Amino acid sequence: MALPTPLHRPHIGFFGGTFDPFHIGHLMLVNELFAHAKVEKLLLCPAFKAPLRREKALFKACDRLAMVQAVASEHSRLEVLDYEIRRKRVCYTYETIQEVRRLYPTLPVLMLIGADQFNRLAQWKFLDRLLPVVHMLVFLRDRSTHPVPPKVRHLSYSVMKNPLVPVSSTEIRERIAKHQSVLGLVPQTVLDYLQTKDLPSCIPSP
Ligand code: ATP
Repeated sequence: MALPTPLHRPHIGFFGGTFDPFHIGHLMLVNELFAHAKVEKLLLCPAFKAPLRREKALFKACDRLAMVQAVASEHSRLEVLDYEIRRKRVCYTYETIQEVRRLYPTLPVLMLIGADQFNRLAQWKFLDRLLPVVHMLVFLRDRSTHPVPPKVRHLSYSVMKNPLVPVSSTEIRERIAKHQSVLGLVPQTVLDYLQTKDLPSCIPSP
């Protein structure tokens, strides 16, 4: 990935998601970011409940948080932001980013965002407060969705040419429901957590 000009100076990275559960597609994004952008740290922020998400998470917030913490424990520049889980409610991204800026006042914020969400940014609440304070790094999720920058003020973004990893948390939850192994689809630390905690009890041994 070529490094866009705004990314030559150090940033604090932010990556939010439901992470129900965290999987190798998420890990690929983390590794790509560390390999190609200047980030002091990347904050992984599990949502208590994502604003546009209807379905209930399979894993409890505390378990989703613990799985992300297990992943972060293996990377010195990965940190977990439990702000949204602690609030126990829907948090809009601008609010969480305010917390990031409070914690890291000297670093510009680099926010990871999928092309699908990026294209729908105009629908986000409080966008006028969010955009002036972040640089967005848009990643690709599949071959069909290309970033189309919305016509909104203060948008600063770069596109990440990441490899495509066709895995989703939905697929993993479906495999779990069918008692199929998720070996290779989640990081080893997540698999260990699922197995030691017996979460949910239907996860088969790999
Ligand atoms: P679900 O299937 O439950 O909707 P998900 O796999 O999309 O979950 P999220 O926790 O919603 O996982 O993802 C957080 C962010 O990571 C989202 O912006 C999502 O687009 C992105 N993401 C998830 N899986 C991948 C993947 N395989 N490749 C690239 N980006 C991904």
